[in-house]
Amino acid sequence: MKKLLSLTLAGLLILFCAVPAFAADAARYGFGEYEHVFIIGIDGAGAAFEKVDSPNFDRIFADNACRHNAVTEYITTSAQNWGSILLGVDYETHGMTNDSTQANPHTSADAFHSIFYYARQAMPQAKLVSICHWPNINYGIIENDINVKKVNRFTDTLVVDEVVHNVTVGKAPTLMFVQLDDVDHAAHTYGGFSEEYYAAVEKMDVNLGRIYDAIESRGLMENSLFIVVADHGETAGGHGGQTVEESSAVLAVAGKSVNKGLLPEDVHNRDVSAIALYALGIEQPAAFISGVPAGLFGTAREKTVAENPMEPGDKLLYALCFPFIRGFNLIMPAFAWIYDIYYKAGVFSFLK
Ligand SMILES: [Zn+2]
Repeated sequence: MKKLLSLTLAGLLILFCAVPAFAADAARYGFGEYEHVFIIGIDGAGAAFEKVDSPNFDRIFADNACRHNAVTEYITTSAQNWGSILLGVDYETHGMTNDSTQANPHTSADAFHSIFYYARQAMPQAKLVSICHWPNINYGIIENDINVKKVNRFTDTLVVDEVVHNVTVGKAPTLMFVQLDDVDHAAHTYGGFSEEYYAAVEKMDVNLGRIYDAIESRGLMENSLFIVVADHGETAGGHGGQTVEESSAVLAVAGKSVNKGLLPEDVHNRDVSAIALYALGIEQPAAFISGVPAGLFGTAREKTVAENPMEPGDKLLYALCFPFIRGFNLIMPAFAWIYDIYYKAGVFSFLK
């Protein structure tokens, strides 16, 4: 009888310790739920996708999450922002500039690491790919000694051709970064508010459609997270400053467990780093100054609205159990202590 009582108490202890752990796990929607992450970086796109006719962007993200004016780094220059997007820290921390990324190759011996480094550590055999128009990224931002397949191409069309080839032929990439540069070129040549600039954004929408359809055609979207992000926006006279146009950047995320809705106002373009690792099931490094936006992920394949990431059934269960679990956790040590005193005093001897 004494044994039965002790076993029952032990069982209750295990049960009530396990319930909160289970509840915490269940709330980590999206963690490790993806086999592939595709990040499509569009240099200089800012918030321009909401100002042009962009049928591909619209169909890809209609049922997913987006913000056209995610926060950029304070200095709205390319290396500062691509550095932050890929390294997960602000530019004051990584210190990269357009000049430094051209002069210094980034290696795993450097102080701050890219998402490719963490992906390589977690997945030694994974196919990691970076295909860029602007060569500084592959040279000065992504490590050169961790077996990332790097390709530089001199036009966006050639970049997209290479992306489609890598998506559809051979082993599918676990993590792929793509950088397209024509929108920024149009801004530097004609100005950020010019017809030519917006025409370049519309052309970019066609590129997005080509890449997305290639992923879809191979059946990868079922287990892929598809992200579009800009480094900065543009003004009539270039970029680098702190105007609203320059310091707004599109951030859009599509995937099976992505909630439909607007990403929070304080989302940064560098949060892409945290989102990518989270989706692949890699714990966020302590060095990161980025995070997964609240409400981004919900239950896989059963999309919910952004305000309600927990399923109604889970929410009710949690609400009902929480006071009980919390109360039990508080009184249990006292109860065990009293039980111990009584037991030693022989109070339970009548149970024998
Ligand atoms: Zn740029």
